[in-house]
Amino acid sequence: TFDVLVVGGGPAGAASAIYAARKGISTGVVAERFGGQVLDTMAIENFISVRHTEGPQLATALEQHVKDYAVDVMDLQVATKLVPADEPGGLATVELASGATVSARTVVLSTGARWRQMGVPGEEEYRNKGVTYCPHCDGPLFKGKRVAVIGGGNSGIEAAIDLAGVVAHVTVIEFDDKLRADEVLQRKLRSLDNVDVILSALTTEVKGNGDQVTGLVYTDRTTDESHEVALDGIFVQIGLLPNTEWLDGTVELSSRGEIVIDDRGATSAPGVFAAGDCTTVPYKQIVIAMGAGATAALSAFDHLIRTPVG
Ligand code: FAD
Repeated sequence: TFDVLVVGGGPAGAASAIYAARKGISTGVVAERFGGQVLDTMAIENFISVRHTEGPQLATALEQHVKDYAVDVMDLQVATKLVPADEPGGLATVELASGATVSARTVVLSTGARWRQMGVPGEEEYRNKGVTYCPHCDGPLFKGKRVAVIGGGNSGIEAAIDLAGVVAHVTVIEFDDKLRADEVLQRKLRSLDNVDVILSALTTEVKGNGDQVTGLVYTDRTTDESHEVALDGIFVQIGLLPNTEWLDGTVELSSRGEIVIDDRGATSAPGVFAAGDCTTVPYKQIVIAMGAGATAALSAFDHLIRTPVG
């Protein structure tokens, strides 16, 4: 039994574990893949005070920092079920795919999220070679170049507006026959002279030269004709999927499947806290996930000192 059990070993989970362990309370971490999305990232240039790092390097640093403390790290373990405590001060349990059950007085959920992919040929091959999912992270890499944004919802149009100020030209590609973003964003988009919008377009292929993206192919759904657009980068903005399917029915989730938290990181279940990309936090970034992880751990500690053992 742990005082704090952290589920997830990305930036949020690592920060949570360190903050909890520094309170001298027993702390465990269950992680499917320690490091999280950071492992899939190349250059990171917005982790404040570290001017440049690479994903695998930051993931190793996260793990080393956690291991400086008496934290029980259970790596390569998938949580499949959470049963919150049935009375104040009682124990929550987390079931693992291995069949084991771990109990804890408080739980911090930090299972992160994954980007929805287009699922077309070339997307995987050119990931981080022009295909990207994060305008905040990778926008500056395409300074002065031509890019596409796939998706005309709020995140796609926000990305297009953001990128238009950095890159030479943006082509927005939307499957539907209209953009779905808020009108105020669409108005802003229309005011920019280096943005084109292509509607009713199904992206069918990412093209490249072996090293880098060179363009994409789409089918015009009104004529069934295929067209190619020459590009240096493709920002895929068709949704971020929180890794919360296993929590359905135990803690309140938003319509997007994000764990609903308050500003202390508390969920709808007493003694269960959450942090990072799996939550309703407005922006999904490493520095933000780490701050949220620290908040959730401090809230878990506060809960422990105020709740008599049941
Ligand atoms: P994650 O990093 O997603 O970690 C989730 C953890 O939970 C992982 O350990 C995972 O294995 C584990 N997990 C999931 N489900 C379960 C389960 N059921 N049981 C047990 N464990 C589970 N942000 C930046 O600030 N700067 C960048 O330059 C940047 N570049 C990026 C590039 C790419 C390609 C990607 C994909 C993301 C990038 N991001 C960047 C975003 C950043 O990586 C995330 O915001 C951050 O990693 C979120 O941290 P997290 O701890 O909330 O979740």
